[in-house]
Amino acid sequence: MQKTSIKIVKKLREAGYEAYWAGGSVRDILMGREPKDYDIVTSARPHEIEKLLKYTIPVGKKFGVILAVVGEHHFEIATFRSDAAYTDGRRPDAVYFKTAKEDALRRDFTINGMFYDLLKKEVLDYVGGQEDLKKKILRFIGNPDERIKEDNLRILRAIRFKNALEFYYAPKTFQAIRKNAKLIINVSAERIKEELDKILKLKGRETAVRELEAAGILKMILPELLELKGVRQPEKYHKEGDVYEHTLESIANLPEKVSGELAWAILLHDIGKADTFKVKDRIRFDGHAEVGAEIADKIMRRLKFSNTERQHIIWLIHHHMILGNIPKAKPNRQAFWFHQPLFPELLELLKADALGSKPKDLSLYNKLKALEEKKHKILPKPKRLLTGNQVMRIFKIPEGPEVGRLLDEIHEAQLDHKIETKEEAIEFAKKLLKK
Ligand code: ATP
Ligand code: MG
Repeated sequence: MQKTSIKIVKKLREAGYEAYWAGGSVRDILMGREPKDYDIVTSARPHEIEKLLKYTIPVGKKFGVILAVVGEHHFEIATFRSDAAYTDGRRPDAVYFKTAKEDALRRDFTINGMFYDLLKKEVLDYVGGQEDLKKKILRFIGNPDERIKEDNLRILRAIRFKNALEFYYAPKTFQAIRKNAKLIINVSAERIKEELDKILKLKGRETAVRELEAAGILKMILPELLELKGVRQPEKYHKEGDVYEHTLESIANLPEKVSGELAWAILLHDIGKADTFKVKDRIRFDGHAEVGAEIADKIMRRLKFSNTERQHIIWLIHHHMILGNIPKAKPNRQAFWFHQPLFPELLELLKADALGSKPKDLSLYNKLKALEEKKHKILPKPKRLLTGNQVMRIFKIPEGPEVGRLLDEIHEAQLDHKIETKEEAIEFAKKLLKK
């Protein structure tokens, strides 16, 4: 991919234009990391880029961005530009084609604002990016306040980059983030979700969430999480503190590389504890997994998660308290759980949950891991007595959640040996439907 991008740069240079690597790739190379992609900036105008290269897609022609397609790789080629006023806090009203220096000045952070000249083999640095990279400082280019007001998404980008790189904020950078936290409401749910996904996948996710809180952003985008503050837990199992502390300890204890689904599930696994807190013999949170799944559902609808993602995360939250029953359960019931497609994630959630508690107790996790490895292979996946299509046809119910519920009930009864044949399953379902 690097070689291809060099070829593109050379082609533009041979045609008499300026052309450089830009932004993230320069930052990553200077840090000794492998860039995810190689963005290119050039003095060539969009129509000139299109003339010069074989396969191009005008993804953002208005903003001067052309996508070059070479084999399986894509390269963003952007004409040097400066941005006109931002009236919507998200996109410039117009762009003007300008010089390399002006293009550097419109970028967000100094470390993201450098270019690399492949022919001279030197960095073009109009913004002091190299200095900040050396000192590990995340700093807005220009006036931080104005830069955030231009594009409100930069609030979350700042927190993401600082924690992805394990840098420090320049003092004015974090002050400006805190001062302008409210502007986050102008950013679309999809974009907020996208940034939060990236943040939760970082190794430094705990610090990042604490910064979101300290800056006053968390209360704007995930107020439900702050409801967990001050919710006490039984001292015996949770010396780490309240439910909020337990949640942050748990996300910190996820493996370094995690799926977004697992990260969200652990972030929200105890979200139902504020509403279910009760003191009987001791502090109890009866039904918190079910209540939590409902609250998580609301949050994820608000943040426009995809249906699949939402359903997976809900499943994980809903079932995170059943694991304790598995070691004592009958073998076929154990098999039912081990064969659940998300069971491996559920085990990982349990592990992070246990490691996020004080004292840390991995005994259940270890027991289940050993059981799963042994039993998963020998116990066959229990065959269902009725399929979804059969249920819909026999009982004349339309596609929807009711079908799933009915199938689950039938399956449960089968596992408990209450029913064993298709005919018995139909009788059983009939009775259920009458109720
Ligand atoms: P990543 O490795 O996460 O892709 P990146 O630096 O490549 O990091 P992108 O979001 O891909 O980040 O953006 C590419 C470059 O475009 C950035 O390095 C930055 O110079 C510029 N940029 C992107 N988004 C903004 C923004 N909202 N405001 C100003 N400049 C931006
Ligand atoms: Mg990038």
